[in-house]
Amino acid sequence: MRIGHGYDVHRLVEGRRLILGGVDIPWEKGLLGHSDADVLLHALMDAMLGAAALGDIGQHFPDNDERYAGADSMQLLHAVRDLLDREGYELVNADCTILAQRPKLMPHIPQMRQNIAQTLKTEIGRISVKATTEEGLGFTGDGSGIAAHAVVLIEKK
Ligand code: MG
Repeated sequence: MRIGHGYDVHRLVEGRRLILGGVDIPWEKGLLGHSDADVLLHALMDAMLGAAALGDIGQHFPDNDERYAGADSMQLLHAVRDLLDREGYELVNADCTILAQRPKLMPHIPQMRQNIAQTLKTEIGRISVKATTEEGLGFTGDGSGIAAHAVVLIEKK
């Protein structure tokens, strides 16, 4: 068994969609990025790649590569799953935390878990997604960005 950690941050700006865990969340701002800027999936992918010591998403999907402009991060997650699969690894479980002051994410979490489980071809019971505020402190607290952490366990098949 091997463990991996991922962390990511994206800036919140007007005129962008807010996509977290593949859920399009109605909100006055969205996350800025070369891809769809799904910060939760980016942290999760980095944790998976980290667990397998396969680098990071910046290496696999460079943000100066036009192929990934506006990319659907769910498709990238699918590619990361395939990469680990080829190396003989499968996911045991993932635990993710989103750090955001607003909007309220609780109502969207079941759909995020379902999306991730479906893409990773695993049971929803292996995928945990949580959300917390940072009590108004720092860049997540003042609403200028959203951050996410992920920890995963993988095992050789
Ligand atoms: Mg990112």
